[in-house]
Amino acid sequence: MTVPVSRSSSVAVPTRPPVDACPTGHRRADERINWASSIPFFLVHVVAVVGTLVVGVTTEALVLFVAMVWGRTWFITAGYHRYFSHRAYRTSRAFQLVLAVGGATCAQKGPLWWAGHHREHHRHSDTEHDVHSPLRGFWWSHVGWILCRRYDEVPTERIKDFARYPELRAVDRWNGVFPWLAAIGCVLIGGWSGLFVGFFLGTVVLWHNTFLVNSLTHVMGRRRYATTDTSRNNLLVAVTTLGEGWHNNHHYHQSSARNGFFWWELDVTWYVLRALGRLGIVRDLKVPSAEVLAADRVADGTFDVGEFRAHCARARSTVADAHLRPGATPRPLVPGGPESQLAAAELEIELEKAQLDEVLLGAVGAADDLRRATRRSNRPAVPERG
Ligand SMILES: [Zn+2]
Ligand SMILES: [Zn+2]
Repeated sequence: MTVPVSRSSSVAVPTRPPVDACPTGHRRADERINWASSIPFFLVHVVAVVGTLVVGVTTEALVLFVAMVWGRTWFITAGYHRYFSHRAYRTSRAFQLVLAVGGATCAQKGPLWWAGHHREHHRHSDTEHDVHSPLRGFWWSHVGWILCRRYDEVPTERIKDFARYPELRAVDRWNGVFPWLAAIGCVLIGGWSGLFVGFFLGTVVLWHNTFLVNSLTHVMGRRRYATTDTSRNNLLVAVTTLGEGWHNNHHYHQSSARNGFFWWELDVTWYVLRALGRLGIVRDLKVPSAEVLAADRVADGTFDVGEFRAHCARARSTVADAHLRPGATPRPLVPGGPESQLAAAELEIELEKAQLDEVLLGAVGAADDLRRATRRSNRPAVPERG
């Protein structure tokens, strides 16, 4: 039997928190790619390909390439990401510095810059304040956001906990030195082939490998948990990034040192961290409880608000684009003439679009409520029969 709910009930209806708007796909002036300052980035790609073709590939260079890609990827995943961004485990001040320096050799700026912006991504995932949401375009999330000037500075407010260490501030400030040290090491070990194949080609592959986590794992893959963003679990990216492809797991439980939640979810970063834990180099590795692992599953009936928000974001983007059509430009009013009728019609269209936008934002807020209501822990227990 259903219980009718009276609209005139005196029970206070909880007011919804303000909805964080979805991204609309438009660029601010300082979000356009700065081609001049991006020249070194593109140049590294050219040098890597041309240099490899000219000097050829030796066995030593191939070993260096593997070390430069996946050895350094570990410092990004275990260091910049799981440690500096999420504090998923603890370690000594000395090993913290090792993680910072190892990460800085990857030519992805310093640990404070990297982790600060990554915290921003989690704070505003797939909303208009997200630094690199693919809802603003795949290439924007993959690389565009790095090539504009808007995100050049360290977001100090977000990373105060680590910014208090002078040695980390120094690594961050002089981050450009460390990739060159890696390059010199490659020349000493593998000669010119070591430099072009090991360092330059290794750096290009390492970059795009890392960037895939920001782009592809918000676009392609399966969603186990009903997070408010578009994060997905992607096996391919999990393999190439040593476990970071389990991105939906990660967005669901960000403080976990383990992103592959189950034994079949390959997570090399975690295996190494666990080994370092046994050696006493790292400690207090955080992992989700069995209760957390079982909650908020899409397959279990929790409303997938992240997908819904993404659809609303695309709809809002379409509405906003319609505003920008040349035909929608406001014209001067001429009383009584066809121009004034046109202007009145255009004004009406603008108002309708504003209303539509409001409806979409309201729908996003309602979807958030629905997700909370359908969470397993919020569902009333069904009484046993018999
Ligand atoms: Zn993260
Ligand atoms: Zn993400």
